Parts: sequence; structure tokens; C-alpha cells
Amino acid sequence: MQHDPLVPWSQIDTVLLDMDGTLLDLHFDNHFWLEVIPQKLAEKLNQPLAQTKAYMTAECAKVFGEIQWYCLDFWQEKLDLDIVSAKREIQHLITLREDTIPFLDALKNSGREVVLVTNAHRGSLSLKVEMTQLDSHITRLISTHDYGVTKESQQLWQALQQDVPFDPQRTLFVDDSIPILHAAKTFGIAHLLCVDNPDSRKPLRGVTEFPSVVDYRNEIPFMQ
Ligand SMILES: [Mg+2]
Repeated sequence: MQHDPLVPWSQIDTVLLDMDGTLLDLHFDNHFWLEVIPQKLAEKLNQPLAQTKAYMTAECAKVFGEIQWYCLDFWQEKLDLDIVSAKREIQHLITLREDTIPFLDALKNSGREVVLVTNAHRGSLSLKVEMTQLDSHITRLISTHDYGVTKESQQLWQALQQDVPFDPQRTLFVDDSIPILHAAKTFGIAHLLCVDNPDSRKPLRGVTEFPSVVDYRNEIPFMQ
């Protein structure tokens, strides 16, 4: 089937990519926070699972989009659970999307600057790199924890531009988070792409606020 490109590739020099839900299947994170952690809490506190699920939903909502949401130390302290060990127990669920490597390799071959910009904590990032060897396909991996602010914040974009010189008019940013895409738009990044299928176990989201991709491989013929 013939597709039209979602991105005007001739206008793109730099590509900034999110990790979870964009290059990696979000099923791991959804399963971890919404199933594994409530289960561990229920065992530890001897509470019904429904209660710990409700607790996690409420606690996550309080810090959603803030640095703590992504911070392993925050959750480790708050829940008194060994988060990294718990992640390791289900590390086999950390998987790349099947279109990720062809997309990254095509980007590299096209000579564009490619940078991973994730809100994931360094601890999560290193586990995910270990499981996926993502670092052999992208030269620069940035955790926003190094800046102390997340992609939802304008401060992050200002700091990032100092470190990774990019022309916002000639940059593509890909992320599965709509609030983060809005923050990038406010900063002035001209080309934005959302992900319609971040979690392989869930139906398509039907995103309409931004162009949204289902299979990156459809873009490859247009990249040169
Ligand atoms: Mg994401």
C-alpha cells in the first residue's frame, strides 16, 4: 500500500526522539506501574489488590508530568520497595517496537542528527539500553534528570538547545505524550509527530491533535 509521508523530510536536519512508548513498547511500563507494583504493595501491606491499585493511580496522578513521576528514588522511598529489582524481574518485557531499528538505521544513513531525549531516570535508561542495545543505533542518549526538569517544562528545551544545537525550524520531535508535544510546540519546534500505538497490547489511540505514526517504516522511502 502506498503511504504519504507524515513528515516533510527535506526540511529536517535533527531528529529528537522519546524512548518509552516511542522507540520501546510501552507495555513494559504500563504493566510495571499498574500491575506489578500494586501487586507487590498488596503483598507487603497485606491489603486488597484493588486498594493498592487505587492508591497507585491516585499517587501517580499527583506527580504526573513532574520529575518525581519519572524518578526511581522518589518511588523507592515513597513505597519502600526495591523498584530496580522489581523492574529486573520483568525485564524480558522490555522490547523495541519492531519498526524501531529499521527507522533508526535509515535516519543514521540519511546523515541526520539523532538524539534520544527521555524523561526516564538514568537507572531506567541503563536497564533499557542493556536490554535493547539502543546505544548501538543512537549516538547521544539524554536523560532529562541531568537537567532536573522534564520535557513538559520550557526550561528543559532552553537548556537542551544550549547542549545540542538544533534549529527548531528544521527539527522533528517524536513523542507519545500529547502534553510533552504541546510543550515542544510552545518552544517552537516546527515538526512534531505523535505515536498512535505506544502500547502494543492496546488499540490505536486515534490521536488527532498531532500527526501520528503507526509504523515508522512507512516514512523510510521519503527520508533521503
Ligand atoms: Mg514516552
